[in-house]
Amino acid sequence: MIRVAFFDTKPYDKSSFEPYAQEGELEFKFLETRLTEDTASLAHGFDAVCVFVNDTVNASVIDQLTEGGVKVVALRCAGYNNVDVCHAYGKVHVVHVPAYSPYAVAEHTMALLLTSIRRIHKAYNRTRDFNFSLSGLTGFDLHGKTMGVIGTGKIGRIFVDICKGFGMRVLAFDKFPAEDSGIQYVDLDTLFREADILSLHCPLTEETQHLINADAIEKMKKGVVILNTSRGALIDAEALLDGIKARKVGAACLDVYEEEADIFFEDRSGHILNDELLARLISMPNVIVTSHQAFLTEEALCNIAETTVENIKAFFVEDGVSENELCYRCGKIESCRKGRAQRCF
Ligand code: NAD
Repeated sequence: MIRVAFFDTKPYDKSSFEPYAQEGELEFKFLETRLTEDTASLAHGFDAVCVFVNDTVNASVIDQLTEGGVKVVALRCAGYNNVDVCHAYGKVHVVHVPAYSPYAVAEHTMALLLTSIRRIHKAYNRTRDFNFSLSGLTGFDLHGKTMGVIGTGKIGRIFVDICKGFGMRVLAFDKFPAEDSGIQYVDLDTLFREADILSLHCPLTEETQHLINADAIEKMKKGVVILNTSRGALIDAEALLDGIKARKVGAACLDVYEEEADIFFEDRSGHILNDELLARLISMPNVIVTSHQAFLTEEALCNIAETTVENIKAFFVEDGVSENELCYRCGKIESCRKGRAQRCF
């Protein structure tokens, strides 16, 4: 029996993973608490832990996990900026779900954009109150506008196609442009200068942290709409707020926020929000915030559970290697390039 401790478990995680426990090979312990230095000891005696985006898997947590006998850290998400992958090497194997539904995230991005620029959220509240006035609800057509996409991987490319379906001109920037994709790549400055709307789909790295800062916003068109369904720290939120207050940024749609870890995924209604910056952003009439919801479709949850279970089972087969292992040894952190050859350690 392979024993797995789940951290930061929500009801929708339980319902998508529970069916796999009935097969008899795996035993799950669902914990609501997040994984941190203070909670890592709860995993003692387990073979694997299963974690999500806001769990902390730093050096100290990794040491505690390995001391307690944990051999695998299974991320039930794609991003791994919360894991010290270098420290994990030689101690614990880290696996992730590289793709579960890029459509879910790309479609949510377009949903946010349409909601914002056609004022659907305001109209919804008005008509529920039998207020049928149209004053203040004027939007603009997407057709003919320029969309600037940063990061044209799995999600970014689907979003590019969605935008083309709306008759938009799409420009993109990617550190590693996709060949033969038909995507028109430009440099970042050109993207900032020409885009009516900017959408972020690159990973959070040292290089991309605060990619959207005061300097970048300065280069953008007046009235630019900024969409972020990738990672919060891609945007300097203070600079964004300044851009909104200066009427330079016309609207922002954020599914992620740099300091979301202690706030998102929980019901905090009735409490006073301690994050002044987030509270101020949410108070703006032209800002829409969803709490890291872009991935949340039935299809994505099914795929996440299926791949995570495969990743864990693959490891515990004798000499098993998961092709979704994040291994620092190769010099470049990415899914294992050895395929199903043999374990590094
Ligand atoms: P991906 O790896 O397929 O694509 C990322 C793209 O970014 C690649 O084309 C890569 O070349 C490019 N890139 C890397 N460094 C760059 C840089 N410095 N500048 C510009 N481009 C750069 O990833 P994906 O599956 O498309 O996911 C994109 C991001 O979406 C993830 O990193 C994750 O943070 C985020 N995400 C969010 C949610 C959500 O629920 N909000 C869900 C899944 C993923």
